[in-house]
Amino acid sequence: MTTAEPVDELVSNTPPDKPKKDKAEPPKERRVRDPIPEDQLEHRQLRDGEWWREIPAFEDVDAEQFNDHIWQMRNSVYGEDSLIENLEGLAPPGFVEDVREGFHKAPMAVRITPYIFSLIDWDNPWEDPLRLQFLPIASRLSPDHPMLTLDSLHEQADAPVDGLTHRYPDKALFLVLDTCPVYCRFCTRSYAIGVDTDTVEKVQLKVSPERWEEGFDYIEQHPELEDIVISGGDTYNMPAKHLRNIGERLLKMDNIRRIRFATKGLAVMPMKVLSDDKWLDAMQDLCDLGREMHKEVAIHTHFNHPKEATAISKRAMERLFERGIKVRNQCVLQRGVNDSIETMKLLTKRLSEINVQPYYVYQHDMVKGVEDLRTSVQTNIDIEKAVRGVTAGFNTSTHVVDAPGGGGKRDVHSYEYYNRETGVSVYQAPSVKPGEYFTYFDPLHSLSESVQQDWRDPDKQEEMVEQALEAAKDRDHQRI
Ligand code: SF4
Repeated sequence: MTTAEPVDELVSNTPPDKPKKDKAEPPKERRVRDPIPEDQLEHRQLRDGEWWREIPAFEDVDAEQFNDHIWQMRNSVYGEDSLIENLEGLAPPGFVEDVREGFHKAPMAVRITPYIFSLIDWDNPWEDPLRLQFLPIASRLSPDHPMLTLDSLHEQADAPVDGLTHRYPDKALFLVLDTCPVYCRFCTRSYAIGVDTDTVEKVQLKVSPERWEEGFDYIEQHPELEDIVISGGDTYNMPAKHLRNIGERLLKMDNIRRIRFATKGLAVMPMKVLSDDKWLDAMQDLCDLGREMHKEVAIHTHFNHPKEATAISKRAMERLFERGIKVRNQCVLQRGVNDSIETMKLLTKRLSEINVQPYYVYQHDMVKGVEDLRTSVQTNIDIEKAVRGVTAGFNTSTHVVDAPGGGGKRDVHSYEYYNRETGVSVYQAPSVKPGEYFTYFDPLHSLSESVQQDWRDPDKQEEMVEQALEAAKDRDHQRI
């Protein structure tokens, strides 16, 4: 008796069609890049030597003294008298008077470390990118845009307890002190940081373990909080024992997964990392404790211009790197400081060179008294487009607008609507404040004369804002 073969065996005897293969062809032409000579790799050329001796006040200061953080703090230029005393005989004629007048109009006090003071080009301080950030001068101040405020990010409105802003669902900003090693003209917290000035009476956020307790209680009572930014002011000014206590207290909370210490100090006084072992040991111990607990501890710093990073900075960053301390950079885009493609390319590469990861480039906040430093949103977009690709993506900043009124950080390109003529851009923040619209206003100096006139008229102001909001809402509805 014969048995019929199963159908599937019959099928399997038929040879299958072979898949067609794509043939990889060698390229017809190969693009070969010529090696770039070492002397053209500008990001590696860090200022070295004893350059500060060119400043009369520091001509007898040797490297050991200059690299001592206590000497830097004691010899910082602080307040009007010390500023004028240091400028006499150094700055060109007319500059001292310009500064004196600017000083009385500024929302921020003046404080500059000898390190930064010595890096300023005193032959042309008007244009110097470091002078622009730290010293106000009357001749360059511009009238404020009418929509500017002191606390443009509404940090106080989003603070359930003094000094603790809870805006994002899982993250809080803990302002533990209100002093810094320098005072930046453009500070977004000019409502609180530093001493009172002729134009601003500040909110007090002094070092206060009692106030911090209220913050700790709030964080513990909100299990959704996982990420705490410890800032101020500047955690460089925080004694090691307080740094350690705050860090350990937070790491030991079950809900906390990540903490970040914010300090501009690395950019303005890198020698602290080389000479303040107590502070550095406290930071390293916190990083090690975090690692043991599988939690991240990092430093977020604030370089704005390639000139700020010198051979001293590199040695300081190497010390942090050797100890396994991660450093990321948050930079603020400022007119005349870093609003050029070449400057931002160089900054990006130089930060990578010294092991600092470029993280954010912020659109300048809409704070009062520094209209001369703001740029348009379009400038930011153009710079981002040109810089992306200059190095690896993980070392390339995301460019953001911190949405005025408390919308949080939005990718600069993600506007719902942008009227380049009136300078009004509109953003939404669905994960932070769903349904709300946030407006950013380009600086007056970037707009035409006639539009600048319109912004002086309260009725036209309202019209321009309404037009932008309506256009944004229309687009939003078209997408639904
Ligand atoms: S260091 Fe930071 S907090 Fe202090 S003044 Fe500068 S921007 Fe403001």
